[in-house]
Amino acid sequence: MDQHHFHKQLDYIIVGQGLVGTWLSYYALQAGKTFVVVNDSHTPAASSVASGVINPVTGRRIVQTWMIDTFLPYALKAYSDIGQQLNKTIVKEAPVVLIHPSAQMQESFEYRYHHDNVYLQKNNAADFEAFMHTPLGTGQINHSIWIDLNSMLTGWRQKLIDHQQYLDERLDADDLKINNDGVEWKGIHAKRILFSDGIGSMQNKYFKGLSFAPNKGEALIVEIKDLPNQAIYKHNLSIVPWKDQLFWVGSNYEWQYEDAKPSSAFRTKIETALAQLLKIPFTVIEHLVGIRPANQERRPFVGMHPVYSAIGICNGMGTKGCSLAPYFANALIAHCENGTPIHPEASLERFKLSLL
Ligand SMILES: Cc1cc2nc3c(=O)[nH]c(=O)nc-3n(C[C@H](O)[C@H](O)[C@H](O)COP(=O)(O)OP(=O)(O)OC[C@H]3O[C@@H](n4cnc5c(N)ncnc54)[C@H](O)[C@@H]3O)c2cc1C
Repeated sequence: MDQHHFHKQLDYIIVGQGLVGTWLSYYALQAGKTFVVVNDSHTPAASSVASGVINPVTGRRIVQTWMIDTFLPYALKAYSDIGQQLNKTIVKEAPVVLIHPSAQMQESFEYRYHHDNVYLQKNNAADFEAFMHTPLGTGQINHSIWIDLNSMLTGWRQKLIDHQQYLDERLDADDLKINNDGVEWKGIHAKRILFSDGIGSMQNKYFKGLSFAPNKGEALIVEIKDLPNQAIYKHNLSIVPWKDQLFWVGSNYEWQYEDAKPSSAFRTKIETALAQLLKIPFTVIEHLVGIRPANQERRPFVGMHPVYSAIGICNGMGTKGCSLAPYFANALIAHCENGTPIHPEASLERFKLSLL
């Protein structure tokens, strides 16, 4: 792209176009701001291997996730709105069918069903017996949503390209020049630069002090011709509709990993588990891998640098990018434009000392 287009002062340079960069540019556009998204499409993005699920209750105790009553309705509307702009249906409500993998999980479900229950529903195991083994019964989580991330990310990228707001390049924070009006990078001037480059920020000299704790996750894309594709299925593994009769099956959380490559151990483990769970045939089509930009506190990093006020970050989404990204991207743009405070648990303020 012709860089002369950017010679005037922009409001923002946004680095990365995964979930977070997509939402930052969406809200910058909504605020009527000028920007360019600089994304190196050769660097793997966690967002392109994620299953796209927002599940309001998780874990062994089936408890509600952090602030989900706020995030869930916010996300549903945001993904519907961006879908409308792209003329695509990219979000739908899809219940999670729980195939209890152990007596303990079955008991957790029963307990939670009778205590402060918002999202759980009983269902009939017989409905699933044609294609799955369900010796310990089943349950259901309602109001979970599924997002077609690939359609959203590629559709939004095309829109940015059409409006000359996208550069397919790597941006190295060392190449930034900071001046009185903001920042300059390769002749592009902007009032602010926002980093949404996932694990890329771990190497960024301005944000090295953040407590990143990346973790590796893998998934298989599997064809399961006879499985109804209107629900998400959860046993020890999750089976999520991907496209037509293809399903995303995963995942794992590896905090200590040697490389970011697909592992044969994962593939064997999932194939074995699927063969035990399913009564119907399946074929593995593809093996995906990604590194989640997670962190020790399990809360995102959102805000402007305490010293370099033109440099900001929206990151650390961990396992929950789908629900956190739209909400906190909006929060960061609102903070920049109107000074709206960022939720204290997510705000960069808490790292003030480690970033000095
Ligand atoms: C297997 C797996 C399954 C998952 N499933 C779910 C799920 O179901 N639901 C959920 O909510 N979350 C899920 N997640 C987590 C989710 O993927 C992340 O929280 C989210 O994608 C993080 O988005 P991001 O935009 O911060 O980072 P990324 O998606 O990694 O995007 C960063 C972008 O920046 C670009 N980039 C990097 N460095 C540079 C640079 N120097 N210059 C320019 N561009 C650069 C990259 O190319 C990339 O496009 C899953 C993750 C994995 C690995």
